[in-house]
Amino acid sequence: MHNIVILGGNFAGVSTVYYLLRHVLPLLNSTSSENSGYHVILISPSDHTYFKIVAPRALLSAEKIPFDKPFASIPDAFSHYKTSEFSFIQGKTVGIDEAAKIVSIRGVRTIKNTFVQYNSLIMATGTSSSSL
Ligand SMILES: Cc1cc2nc3c(=O)[nH]c(=O)nc-3n(C[C@H](O)[C@H](O)[C@H](O)COP(=O)(O)OP(=O)(O)OC[C@H]3O[C@@H](n4cnc5c(N)ncnc54)[C@H](O)[C@@H]3O)c2cc1C
Repeated sequence: MHNIVILGGNFAGVSTVYYLLRHVLPLLNSTSSENSGYHVILISPSDHTYFKIVAPRALLSAEKIPFDKPFASIPDAFSHYKTSEFSFIQGKTVGIDEAAKIVSIRGVRTIKNTFVQYNSLIMATGTSSSSL
């Protein structure tokens, strides 16, 4: 298996997953044997995307933008893809071992790290700044 691991499940990460599953994997997997296919793994702390652009409007009117509107379930969005092609892991990446090609993930409900091996790594974790 060739694991394509994508860190970050929002605009960049989710659209990359979508493009790979829809347009790239069918081509790659059509020339691979059953046991040597390509698999996309998305890792993100939340299992929902967040449409930040609507946030200022949602803050102003809960009537016009209901609370759940800016969020969309990631597992639901990709539920029609085969588990051999796509998996979602809810957790935050806390380390990358570039030599061994392994990412460490801290799950949201556990203090134990899990480890995922990658062949290709795409970092789509966005930017953040401290707000003290
Ligand atoms: C209020 C607001 C309004 C905006 N309005 C506009 C607009 O009108 N037009 C416009 O073009 N842009 C707008 N932007 C900017 C736009 O939202 C960003 O450019 C866009 O979100 C960047 O997308 P991204 O996927 O690169 O990163 P993000 O959307 O930041 O997504 C990063 C993802 O990575 C995850 N992540 C972070 N750390 C880790 C980790 N260690 N391990 C795993 N996952 C991790 C995060 O949880 C998140 O899911 C706005 C932003 C804000 C905050």
